[in-house]
Amino acid sequence: MNRLEHLRAALDKLDDEHLRRIRRDIEGPCSPHVVIDGQTYTAFCSNDYLGLAGDPQLAEALIEGARQWGAGAGASHLISGHYAIQHTLEKRLAAFVGCERALVFSSGFMANMGIIPALVGRNDAIFADRLNHASLIDGMLLSRADIHRIPHLDMTALERQLAASAAKTKLIVSDSVFSMDGDVAPLRELMALAERFDAWLLIDDAHGFGVLGPQGRGAPAEAGINGWRLIQMGTLSKAAGVSGAFVAGHATVIEWLMQKARTYIFTTGSPPALAQALAASIDLIEAGNERRAHLAMLIERLKKGLVQARWKLLPSRTPIQPLIVGDNATALALGAALMKEGLWIPAIRPPTVPAGSARMRISLTAAHTAADVDRLIEAVNRLEKTL
Ligand SMILES: *Cc1c(COP(=O)(O)O)cnc(C)c1O
Repeated sequence: MNRLEHLRAALDKLDDEHLRRIRRDIEGPCSPHVVIDGQTYTAFCSNDYLGLAGDPQLAEALIEGARQWGAGAGASHLISGHYAIQHTLEKRLAAFVGCERALVFSSGFMANMGIIPALVGRNDAIFADRLNHASLIDGMLLSRADIHRIPHLDMTALERQLAASAAKTKLIVSDSVFSMDGDVAPLRELMALAERFDAWLLIDDAHGFGVLGPQGRGAPAEAGINGWRLIQMGTLSKAAGVSGAFVAGHATVIEWLMQKARTYIFTTGSPPALAQALAASIDLIEAGNERRAHLAMLIERLKKGLVQARWKLLPSRTPIQPLIVGDNATALALGAALMKEGLWIPAIRPPTVPAGSARMRISLTAAHTAADVDRLIEAVNRLEKTL
């Protein structure tokens, strides 16, 4: 076999293991009601928790931003690619989450890949939840620090490993809301351990920002944690409905990250028009209590409605409501059966989640209606008996 045939065989193996991923081409803006190949589906897939991604107000702000700032940034931020609107957005974000300063990256993946190696290196130690997002894992690997992977939410194991570490610089890293499970890390306990063992605490609030806390200020604000040890990262691509990410914290920490994060320094600044759309998005998030209340109602409705026998909903109070079905083939069959009925829910399989825990990752947004959720409940309860 030549190298190309090796790739072909490896792709065939993905098919055999039900692990081949496909994309679908959506005809229209992000919404729970999408058209694919002329067919309409109700989708429970997106991280657009407040229903802002397709909101005409943000599209208008983006158009206005493009008129004023053009299409591209032209250079990296530290050369000549940083714009006044981006400075305004960073100040707004910092104030919103209650930190001294914020720095905007072009994506959450880039932020995590940049932040971690800027904070720790060889001979330092990282303490990370096993279910952390892939971008945190890759950022940790890039840093070359010693990695201690902690069983999911096991504070006793974390404490033990921190106590046993002789590393000079320690960094605790955790998702706030776990992206494939929907559960929330005990942020106060994490902060108490960070203080006790003189560690940094990096919280990835990708799924909390905009959703949790007063006015959607995020999981750290909800937990009431703050201080110079806390470094909070949030995405601007999920509840905020646009693109990009920020890191917020003490001004000295953020200045250091601006000087050292390679994924900030060596990449072209994101289009300044995005910052204009994001400024509008933060206003909508702040004023979004009604959207969040509607979302909370839908979450409760789903949890009450899904009869749990063969398949189990994981305990989660967030818009991420995973239904564990077990094996890959069942997850795919259920996904296909739902799709036939016009309901679109992604089947999440290994390596995204541990083997044997394939799941339907139901995600709810403020743009869903109660009737959407009722249709899903009816279909899943029926298929559980017949599939
Ligand atoms: C989505 C996600 C990211 C990456 O953010 P992008 O802006 O999509 O690159 C990082 N961390 C977590 C926990 C995420 O869910």
